[in-house]
Amino acid sequence: MEMEKLVSLCKRRGFMFQSSEIYGGINGFWDYGPLGVELKRNIKDAWWHDMITAHDELDVRPGAPSTYEMTGLDCTIIMHPQVWKVSGHQDLFSDMMVDCKESKGRYRYDQLRGRWVEAKGQKVFVTTKVEAEEEDEDLQRRALKFFNLRAKNVEELSWDGDTVSLETISEFENVLAPEAKSVGSLTEPREFNLMFKTIVGAMGTEADTAFLRPETAQGIFVNFKNVVDSTRVKIPFGIAQVGKSFRNEITPRNFTFRSREFEQMEIEFFCHPDSSRKWYEYWRDRRMQWYKDLGLAGERLQLRDHAPDELSHYSTGTADIEYAFPFLPEGEYGELEGIAHRGDFDLRSHMEGKLDPNTCPLEVEKGEDGKPKYRGSGKDLTYRDPETNEKYLPHVIEPSAGADRATLAFLCEAYQEDEQPDDKGKMQTRVVMKLHPRIAPVKAAVFPLVKKEGMPEIAKDVYRALKAKFPAVYDEKGAVGRRYRRQDEAGTPYCITIDGDTLTDKTVTIRDRDSLEQWRVKLDDVVEEIAGRVS
Ligand code: ATP
Repeated sequence: MEMEKLVSLCKRRGFMFQSSEIYGGINGFWDYGPLGVELKRNIKDAWWHDMITAHDELDVRPGAPSTYEMTGLDCTIIMHPQVWKVSGHQDLFSDMMVDCKESKGRYRYDQLRGRWVEAKGQKVFVTTKVEAEEEDEDLQRRALKFFNLRAKNVEELSWDGDTVSLETISEFENVLAPEAKSVGSLTEPREFNLMFKTIVGAMGTEADTAFLRPETAQGIFVNFKNVVDSTRVKIPFGIAQVGKSFRNEITPRNFTFRSREFEQMEIEFFCHPDSSRKWYEYWRDRRMQWYKDLGLAGERLQLRDHAPDELSHYSTGTADIEYAFPFLPEGEYGELEGIAHRGDFDLRSHMEGKLDPNTCPLEVEKGEDGKPKYRGSGKDLTYRDPETNEKYLPHVIEPSAGADRATLAFLCEAYQEDEQPDDKGKMQTRVVMKLHPRIAPVKAAVFPLVKKEGMPEIAKDVYRALKAKFPAVYDEKGAVGRRYRRQDEAGTPYCITIDGDTLTDKTVTIRDRDSLEQWRVKLDDVVEEIAGRVS
């Protein structure tokens, strides 16, 4: 499927629009239209239902090491600035950015996928991942060559940790310098922090700077103690949150895949350090299955364990759930969700503010008072097991998903074309969105075959009865074939037609979007029949 077809369908049918479109749009921001808002909400609701409200804490789920509890939170987007200092986002959550002097094109490469190395007292960032803002293949190729060279040669020089030994420096420079010249139109990389800044309060000074959260997770960590103290949850348990996050991405692109404002669905799962590895494996597999159950069952979905050198400095295991989006080159996958074993990094940082100098790439800065600037809250975030009395800092497993990327993947997977006869029996290309009935924006459409003989009245009654339970539409305009096509493009799984027979035998026709099968059911049974199929 070509991406342009999906993008145009999304606009035509009202799934997605560019934000502020009448003013020319704003890069990296997207609005969900009447169908899109239902689709995305259904995805978020399915997640919340399956992970939290429907979770049975009395029984051991298949694959889980033990029973566990799940609870939710809804935290603010703006938090105390120290949260982001302690979490590392203020100093570490940056992409490296270079500009092309000729075209003013801008490139980023992802800090988490690379490493700093030190050469001749200079810190150099090494990575293999490059994205260009522009669809300019030549620029992309040149940038890729530039960064690959750095990465490749440094690896060949067997650099150890963060340092390249002295003998290798000249070699490093020799290899790098000529290449660097040949792509001399690129500026040197510089760090670009991805957090959006804002001002809180009327004074508007630098001291009033706050940030829009770049992830929902920190709200959960800083409320860990509140949740433990205010509920009776016992470890192991998870806290979930769905909400907006903001990142000033250097290269927003690929439709909603990389946006500057997006929604996350995150779980922080707190467990005993001894069982954390098993919980990590449980969540990784559980989350993968969730996407499959909702229709991403094909080869385009994959689970990828991170290689040791890809892991964040605090993580002992991370896996990505990835989808082969049609806008990516053949064989490449984009991240839908990351499942990370975070150890006790987050709770410990918020408690002590201490980052382990052996694993954290940053030195702890000292404030004027000589105390580390990464001061934590000083609050005791340890957990005391009520049965064993053991006091410990829990380990955390984090399944972190993006609602917008999931929505986009479900849309991509759903898009299909086939050949079907139109009202006159002529074969036509049919565009059909084969969305899982649970997430389809509209569950059923009701059509009177003709606008007479009392058919519209009966159809309206059916429509109202359906509408009381879930989104439905009523359509009496145009040929029935045309009405089916419209619903196929909207992903509506069932169409109900009221025809001449309805007037005599009180039955209606139901048509299945995917199989095109049609069958008759009693008028009185329609709502139950559809409800049973879409939940
Ligand atoms: P990427 O490497 O693609 O930038 P990431 O590894 O930085 O993603 P995380 O910080 O792990 O992403 O965020 C968790 C999830 O949030 C991602 O798996 C993704 O679904 C979603 N997400 C992150 N950044 C964006 C974005 N700019 N636009 C849309 N969704 C995003």
